[in-house]
Amino acid sequence: MNKEPLKYISTRGHQDKLDFKDVIFEGLAPDGGLYIPEKWPTLNDSILKTFPNKTYQEIAYDVISMFVDDSISNSDLRSIINSSYKNFRSQDITPVTKINEKEYLLELFHGPTYAFKDIAMQFISQLMRFYLLKTNKSINILAATSGDTGAAAIEGFKHIQSSKIFILHPYKKISEIQRKFMTTIDSENVFNIAIKGNFDECQIIIKKIFSDTKFKKSKNLTAVNSINWARIMCQIVYYFYAASRLDNIKNNILYSVPTGNFGDIFAGYIASKMGLKIGTLNIATNENDILTRTLTTGIHKTKDVIFTTSPSIDIQVSSNFERLLFDITKNPDFINSIMNDLSKNGEYTLPTEIISDISKSFSSYTVNQAEVESIIKKLFDKQKIIIDPHTAVGLASSRKCDDKHDLNVTLSTAHPVKFKDTISNIIDYNDKEIPKSVRSLFNKEEKLHIMENDIVMVQKFIEKNTI
Ligand SMILES: *Cc1c(COP(=O)(O)O)cnc(C)c1O
Repeated sequence: MNKEPLKYISTRGHQDKLDFKDVIFEGLAPDGGLYIPEKWPTLNDSILKTFPNKTYQEIAYDVISMFVDDSISNSDLRSIINSSYKNFRSQDITPVTKINEKEYLLELFHGPTYAFKDIAMQFISQLMRFYLLKTNKSINILAATSGDTGAAAIEGFKHIQSSKIFILHPYKKISEIQRKFMTTIDSENVFNIAIKGNFDECQIIIKKIFSDTKFKKSKNLTAVNSINWARIMCQIVYYFYAASRLDNIKNNILYSVPTGNFGDIFAGYIASKMGLKIGTLNIATNENDILTRTLTTGIHKTKDVIFTTSPSIDIQVSSNFERLLFDITKNPDFINSIMNDLSKNGEYTLPTEIISDISKSFSSYTVNQAEVESIIKKLFDKQKIIIDPHTAVGLASSRKCDDKHDLNVTLSTAHPVKFKDTISNIIDYNDKEIPKSVRSLFNKEEKLHIMENDIVMVQKFIEKNTI
């Protein structure tokens, strides 16, 4: 553990500094900012050299212990990590697989709900349970999901009796299997709310409810969205893991990440701040290309959401981008002023120095749905490899990057079965390949509440059903 525990500060300058435990339960800061460690801890070379011989769980311990304080002992942290990953279908947890000499996939979908959100959510639910048992408290969890977070959160918290969990998803805008993973869980503490709107609108409702500080305090509301620091923290681990399996000292590696809320790729940026050698982080976008446009024009301007075959990244408001801008500028006044512009005018402009700073670590290329189809088809025809549409966005985008890297690693964020309807329109996807645990979802009854895009209504419903 750290001798001097890290404190967490808000990207918008609120004076309170939080301890690890509080930051896990707090979600948004009172000023609307996101929490971020006051400074980045580093892992020195002598530790990094041990990683090729360590398991995923051992690497996770080395990384995560840099961020926690003595509210949790070393042995408790180890046992939380071990139980978080015991239900994964791969012993490696996040195996690195080869497409060809240059291209690899980092498979993040071997958890219970078949997408990468399980990696953080399994850990967070165990961690929160640990703290709740210690203090004899209960919580109400709220999150908006573009499809995968909700399932992972419900799976993590369904047996945690000291919690109730409310998940908002955009009605009819996620895949059938994504929905069934959430709505077929038969547990008293789970509430699924389908909002007649898009993901950004669900996210706005959540943010508004959290900004009602009285309601938040009295109900012990907790966010598990990708704004939750613990999510990002868990995702740092697999960048270290992948690098340790691919000799990142010899190889200059590009990581290509299908990006929505900027949580997954921001974790890679933190890994580099902690001492990991990373070539480039490529922000792969679909037609919802706000971040690609930001990097090329400096103008961060939201448009209407376009619904694509990769729904988990059909997002215009990329919350965690704020964390990057804060890390680069260290200037909360600047963050306040651009966030003000964004909510008033739907856009802000970044000075060229900031764009060139971002471009030192990041590239960004957008991919359209025809390109997604074509790469899914090519990979299947040539090599019988099946990738999901999000992974396809990542891979196709990496192929647009300049050729200065030794290896391109695409983060494979979902199992293809989660998007089997899309995939079977492109290739001959054999239903026999559907895993048993997914097949069983089809016979189960679904439970969900459909609601208008109306904050007052949603808040009332939540109030009525809280613990
Ligand atoms: C959530 C998600 C993403 C995007 O991750 P962010 O951290 O929001 O950028 C990409 N692919 C899949 C399958 C997801 O579920």
